[in-house]
Amino acid sequence: MKIVLQNLTKIFPSRNKKVKDEVVAVSDFTFTIPDGKLIGLLGPSGCGKSTTLYMISGLQKPSGGKIFFGDDDVTELSAENRGVGLVFQNYALYPHMTVKQNILFPLQNLKGADKLPKEEMIERAYTAAKLVQIDNLMDRKPSELSGGQQQRVAIARALVKMPKVLLLDEPLSNLDARLRLQTREEIRRIQKETGITTIFVTHDQEEAMSISDLIVVMKLGVVQQIGAPQEVYDDPTNLFVAKFLGTPPINVFEGKVEGEKLYIGDAAVLDVPGVSDQPVTVGIRPEGFNLDPNGAFVCKLQNVEVMGRDVSIVSTNEASLNPVVRSIINADNKVEASETVTFSLKPHKVFLFSKEDESRIYF
Ligand code: ADP
Ligand code: MG
Repeated sequence: MKIVLQNLTKIFPSRNKKVKDEVVAVSDFTFTIPDGKLIGLLGPSGCGKSTTLYMISGLQKPSGGKIFFGDDDVTELSAENRGVGLVFQNYALYPHMTVKQNILFPLQNLKGADKLPKEEMIERAYTAAKLVQIDNLMDRKPSELSGGQQQRVAIARALVKMPKVLLLDEPLSNLDARLRLQTREEIRRIQKETGITTIFVTHDQEEAMSISDLIVVMKLGVVQQIGAPQEVYDDPTNLFVAKFLGTPPINVFEGKVEGEKLYIGDAAVLDVPGVSDQPVTVGIRPEGFNLDPNGAFVCKLQNVEVMGRDVSIVSTNEASLNPVVRSIINADNKVEASETVTFSLKPHKVFLFSKEDESRIYF
């Protein structure tokens, strides 16, 4: 199911007439979510991810704009009639019911023409349970399950109605690191197997990057950039997006352009043809450095961390806006013990941003 968001906006009005503290939680969000894809909705806490998801689900009414499922305008349609499956961060299972009863619950609530015969309900519950690999736990109570298993039950419960759209709001946040990894791969597998258009909300960039067909990066209710994860990483539209994606994070420096050369400190570190003279903020990905004795970019060496395949060089530079400069190079390169380390830069890993509005300056 294709989902069209048209100028979708949500404003929470001020509670108190005297103070003007209305919140624009989502501002003018326009995007067509392609059928059968997994979309990662990504951004820091409070940027409007959940609000967007709740508007798509029908749990919250937009202040402006429209939502289409396929060609149907569902903006005014109630949540029950939209055919969406929702999974929240806290699994919210019914503690007194078994796993089977929990999964069956949404089907037992179907009314009128939607009502299913009992055998079909059971069959559907087992199909959903198999998909998330908990069909051997059907008679247990939620308290007898691990966090990861409980979250699978919640996913099965969302899948059992065969939704046209699956909405997941930070579904892995309550799991420990190992389970988080495993469960995110499970979610990707289930999404591929079912082909259900899925929106996955998370504040964790690595999580979103690893499983999404497309990521949507939001900040303060405003969409910053939409694209395939690698595309957005390689070609961020502004400083916020550049800083939000990537571990270790991008290195950020004060710099200036003079005579089509980029200066960091006093060193001309890169040719930047076509860029006019101006102060700039410079972003350099950790993999954007070459160890190069003839390079122009000199940093004070602090530490070398060997990580098997790669070496992480920790250094400092006066123009750096991060506490340290992190560069990652292939472990075949030997880093000489010395006070300084000298780099040349890979141009496609260096991004320039306007000092005025943090937008990208292309060269
Ligand atoms: P996220 O899920 O990205 O953390 P939310 O969508 O929950 O962000 O919230 C976006 C903004 O809207 C935040 O500033 C939040 O405080 C505000 N907000 C969310 N729900 C309400 C509400 N019911 N009433 C008032 N403000 C709200
Ligand atoms: Mg949220």
